[in-house]
Amino acid sequence: MTNNLHDIVQYCFGSAQTPPSVAISACLHGAPVRYDGSDKYLGPALPTLGQHLALLPFCPEVGAGFGVPRPPVHWVEDDCGSRTVQLVHPPGTSVEAEISAASQQWCQLHPIEAAILKAKSPSCGTGTTPIHSPAGKLLALGDGVFTSILRQRGIAIVDELYFTSPHADEWFILGCYLQQQQNQQQHKLRQQKLRQGTGQAPEQWPELQSELQPELRRRARVQQVRQRERSGRMASKCGSGSAAGGAAALPWRGCLQEFLSVDSTRRVYYLTALGEQLRHS
Ligand code: SF4
Repeated sequence: MTNNLHDIVQYCFGSAQTPPSVAISACLHGAPVRYDGSDKYLGPALPTLGQHLALLPFCPEVGAGFGVPRPPVHWVEDDCGSRTVQLVHPPGTSVEAEISAASQQWCQLHPIEAAILKAKSPSCGTGTTPIHSPAGKLLALGDGVFTSILRQRGIAIVDELYFTSPHADEWFILGCYLQQQQNQQQHKLRQQKLRQGTGQAPEQWPELQSELQPELRRRARVQQVRQRERSGRMASKCGSGSAAGGAAALPWRGCLQEFLSVDSTRRVYYLTALGEQLRHS
């Protein structure tokens, strides 16, 4: 699939499509920004991701001004159930406001389609971050500060464990292009609505008709592939290495519209399911 990925992206999304912007925890990108000055390089998936996506490294804790090296932090839940990010030593010193402010500011400056974040981190963890009692007992697992902010914005998020599955990098890239396309459509709809302010349905707006043409053409191409496959003519082209043949040979060919209809908070699970489908195909 790797050899055809560029062709598949061009075939489905057009050669003029700019690479989707994706946030990545700076330590996964190889920057030595962890509290102890180390990094957590993502591994073999990173070059492929960097080739097809605009990766935007960010460390919320360095962004908050804590520097490298710095005292470690963790989530603490008090007896009333209230949770904050605190320094491990001395206990009780909250640093949540600083990390949250830096994360919010970064999000405002960087529109993104998805994010790749470091598991278990107090700032970047994705449902894997330990929540401790004041005495240090593990109470639960939750999201990091930066992760929570991205979730509120409907951003699809994965952590580094996602990329241990075969072809996960390629599935993630395709998912980001799908997400970008959906975001662009929604943006155009909002812009049109603001400009026109009429009671007409969007499909009836003359300007929107022309703006939707690229998407309509893409849908027509996908439909064409499905029809050709149904009639059996695609079978002979699957191994040809052409853009159309590569796309038709993929199990996600029938999943484009389904993906667009999935709620953004569930998209990461949807992408995982697609990866599983590919692994067993
Ligand atoms: S805050 Fe996030 S980016 Fe920074 S070192 Fe921790 S996990 Fe990595």
